[in-house]
Amino acid sequence: MKNCFPIRMKTLFKTYGFVGLLFALPAIAGCSSDTKGPVMALEPLPYAEDALEPYISAKTMNVHYHGHYAGYVSRADQLLQTCRIKEKTLEGVVRAASASPQNRAMFANAAQAWNHAFFWKCLKPEGNEPPQGRLKQMIDDSFGNMDACKAMLVESAGTIVGSGWIWIIQAGDDLKIITTANADTPIAHGEKPIFAIDVWEHAYYLDYQNKRAEYVAAILDHIVNWEFVASRLD
Ligand code: MN
Repeated sequence: MKNCFPIRMKTLFKTYGFVGLLFALPAIAGCSSDTKGPVMALEPLPYAEDALEPYISAKTMNVHYHGHYAGYVSRADQLLQTCRIKEKTLEGVVRAASASPQNRAMFANAAQAWNHAFFWKCLKPEGNEPPQGRLKQMIDDSFGNMDACKAMLVESAGTIVGSGWIWIIQAGDDLKIITTANADTPIAHGEKPIFAIDVWEHAYYLDYQNKRAEYVAAILDHIVNWEFVASRLD
């Protein structure tokens, strides 16, 4: 809050009075917490922590959500209080921060907040319908068939050195598989993600250790919310 403190206190006091000043200060400095708080909010997990077992354990989900994800959201919220970004949406903050090198920490934490909120929605407890209708058609046209799409996603996961994400993005009538490193996210590059898998080690190491491909295949074979993925199509 340091940079929210105005220099000309005397003038401001005359204008607003003591009580008025208490309310006016944050707004004067553009740091009003009521416009910023909701920007960084925890997306509730759309299923129980143990609902994706045995493919993702309750222990992994618990640490991933309350440890890693909540940490990103909390740090992003703190950084937003003191940075110059005035965006009112998480997407806006991610895009604005990606454009300026001095906001690297803001970008990393906001992008991870967005990526995880998106990732939770891409998953659903076992028993999902496979892709239907337009999504199925686009998968067939872009990759050959669903099995080929899964194989390409697993292969892509293996190409990431260190931490990152694999994505399916929509580009007009085409679907493409891309990867991003660390916190980077397609929405910072004007791209339209319809599906994501977190391949940071914290997402799978307790359950799969170094077998990243097995983790990705288990998600694809059992716990993808294809209805959500289809809903993302333009
Ligand atoms: Mn993660």
